[in-house]
Amino acid sequence: MKGLIRAQISAAALAANLRRIREQAPRSRVLAVIKANAYGHGSLPVARCLVAAGADALAVARLEEALALRAAGITAPVVLLEGVFTRAEMAEAVAGRLDFVVHDEEQLALLEQTAGGARACAVWMKIDTGMNRLGFRADAVAAAMQRLEALSHHVAGIRLMTHFACADDRASPMTGEQMKRFAALVGDKPYERSLANSAAIFAAPESLGDWVRPGLALYGVSPFADGEGAALGLSPAMRLVSTVITVRDVPAGESVGYGGVWRASRASRIAIVAAGYGDGLPWSLSSGVTVVIGAHRLPLVGRVSMDMIAVDVTGTPVSTGDEAVLWGPEQPVEWQARAARTIPYELLCGVSQRVPLQIA
Ligand SMILES: *Cc1c(COP(=O)(O)O)cnc(C)c1O
Repeated sequence: MKGLIRAQISAAALAANLRRIREQAPRSRVLAVIKANAYGHGSLPVARCLVAAGADALAVARLEEALALRAAGITAPVVLLEGVFTRAEMAEAVAGRLDFVVHDEEQLALLEQTAGGARACAVWMKIDTGMNRLGFRADAVAAAMQRLEALSHHVAGIRLMTHFACADDRASPMTGEQMKRFAALVGDKPYERSLANSAAIFAAPESLGDWVRPGLALYGVSPFADGEGAALGLSPAMRLVSTVITVRDVPAGESVGYGGVWRASRASRIAIVAAGYGDGLPWSLSSGVTVVIGAHRLPLVGRVSMDMIAVDVTGTPVSTGDEAVLWGPEQPVEWQARAARTIPYELLCGVSQRVPLQIA
């Protein structure tokens, strides 16, 4: 048995998802969001794959993530979505030719204090249109814009962005409201604009702008609470698969696992699979979750342990060494997220360090 649990990453699926996004946003450039280790898929291999597939730029949340890309030889534009927070970080961003967001007065001041400017860096001015997380508020936009424009010869370019709070809810009036506010605040400024995340790319075609910023959709996963990536023409890029390490008989009336929370109502056959919360499966995954073994979708029973789960395989031919799929093309991560009362973002980002990533 090679490696028990592993996350198989499909380069073909990543490339196909990028093509699907381009089809949806044919006039926009694509800023491929690969923060948090590319949503658990492995930032370096995913960066290489998406750049080869034609992504226009990459985006990460933290300076360390960007520097790791540069250290590995990635020369594509990389955007720091939260910007930089100290002079030292600014110096590293400038030296690394990183583009960065400026979302508040302090970051603007850091840029103003950067001797020699940031001539190789495009600056993304973030405008808050209702998310109330990052970005200049409406009453601060004009002054910030003026200060940024005064630096325009010291940076590679100015771009304007905002972020939607409710784009995953097609019925929410918030997205339209945010678009209106953004349009009013940026007026006829001659700079490139970016608004749309994955959800808006599919649900708000009027929001596409010069750059779209897909994350989840690149990995083939739906940002909407209902439905799966396949319904949007996307293919799951990760297949999280492990191995049956033993199969045992459990008599009627006996329980399985910690707390004895599941009890066999009939003589049962239980497969133990090497996957637990130590690998990133939430402890809260329990009733309603299935594991695919061979051609069968079989129910997880009892609690998730650190290293193992139990699956009821009664009446199904399952043996030690069989593959057991937690999520992937056989059953979307969206289903598992719903069963665990979480979101697919969290399950994907949660795949732990000890799970080897195999990109092919
Ligand atoms: C994470 C992030 C995205 C990508 O969001 P998805 O929902 O994964 O498409 C886009 N823009 C910003 C500013 C982000 O932080």
